[in-house]
Amino acid sequence: MKCPKCGKEYRQIVPPRCSCGAFLEISYDYSRVDVSKWKHRERGVWRYKELLPGVAKIISLKEGGTPLVKAKISEKLGVDVFIKDETRNPTGSFRDRLATVGVSYGLPYADNGFIVASDGNAAASLAAYAARANKEAFVVVPKKVDKGKLIQMIAFGAKIIRYGESVDECIEYAKELSRLNGLYDITPENNIIGLEGQKTIAFELWEEINPTHVIVPTGSGSNLYSIYKGFKELLEIGVIEEIPKLIAVQTENCSPIAAEILGIEGKREFTKALGLYVKDPVNKELAIRAVKESGGTAVVVSEDELDFGERALTKEGVFAEYSSAVVIPALLKLHENGYFEKGDKVALVVTGSGLKSYYVEERERFSIGGTKLKILKLLREKPMYGYEIWENLEKPMKYQAVYQHIKELEALGLIEEAYKRGRRVYYKLTEKGERLLENFEE
Ligand SMILES: [Zn+2]
Repeated sequence: MKCPKCGKEYRQIVPPRCSCGAFLEISYDYSRVDVSKWKHRERGVWRYKELLPGVAKIISLKEGGTPLVKAKISEKLGVDVFIKDETRNPTGSFRDRLATVGVSYGLPYADNGFIVASDGNAAASLAAYAARANKEAFVVVPKKVDKGKLIQMIAFGAKIIRYGESVDECIEYAKELSRLNGLYDITPENNIIGLEGQKTIAFELWEEINPTHVIVPTGSGSNLYSIYKGFKELLEIGVIEEIPKLIAVQTENCSPIAAEILGIEGKREFTKALGLYVKDPVNKELAIRAVKESGGTAVVVSEDELDFGERALTKEGVFAEYSSAVVIPALLKLHENGYFEKGDKVALVVTGSGLKSYYVEERERFSIGGTKLKILKLLREKPMYGYEIWENLEKPMKYQAVYQHIKELEALGLIEEAYKRGRRVYYKLTEKGERLLENFEE
């Protein structure tokens, strides 16, 4: 790989930018690519091998080739909506596409092992693929990391280095560790090789529906850029006439990319969508260029809408992490603004599984519906017995149903018996119940 501007050569690691400042992009001889061969091959990332870096040995867990599910919400909206279910990759996220290419390509340079800076998913992926390749994996993750992802890293035997508040701070540190210890770095901000794997999402979407719009949860911007690059290559090969409109979704709390696209004041604060908690994305310019050149836009969603998005996706039968759940509120906002036209085909990229992303408290919070919440609030005022709780609830409801909620709250350890008067059992909040309520109101 040669820098198009100064001619400097890159072999092992290809950074997003050359030392001369020019952006680097891995390219292929597009005139020789025959896409009709693809359909005769097995589904998955390596089906598109002529558009991937050459490797001596493929380290694969059969990643990619994920299902594209027509969403039920299509009927309601009058637009065809499809869920690209990346949760069904080997370790439960789209990052397996990055890891298979990064690890396969890096193998000859990884005598001492691999390293990645990650908010969680890429670290869990690298842990699995390095294990598969009989190599050590070092993962640099911020202090706040989803428990399920941490469990994966531990299970696959990765060496875990906790560093900094958000993933941006881990990137330089991983680069330094890579240099000092001879580790092959697959962090997308330090090495664009793995993005070649991620771009295969675009090829799969094209093969199945040739979408008009692709809605992409956006943290570092690397996935957005990868998908853009995939479509740009299809354009160059000549099988599509235009790149679908790419829509970047971030949270109101942390929106450095979306804010710039929308021309609004952005925030860089904590968001519980940990995958989107990237305060200063290295690839921001690339992501913004991808959106602009595709004629797309950006959307920001609130923290409350993350819960809504997650529930809406579970109704489709897909359990996504908060970082992926943003696609639903984004879709609805665009739809309300009349953004889509009849005949549009909208793909929602659901990047990672909800199984990986919960703190236990949040999982419980997820199972707490409106009535249970009202009961908890009543009991915060003073201890009450069942009938009294029922009388205080506004909504008409059978006593039996309220009794059931009380029993469930007790089983969850959120309320407990305070005292008895005669046959009446008075309930109060437990400490855990108090904490949960505080969480709700922060
Ligand atoms: Zn250069």
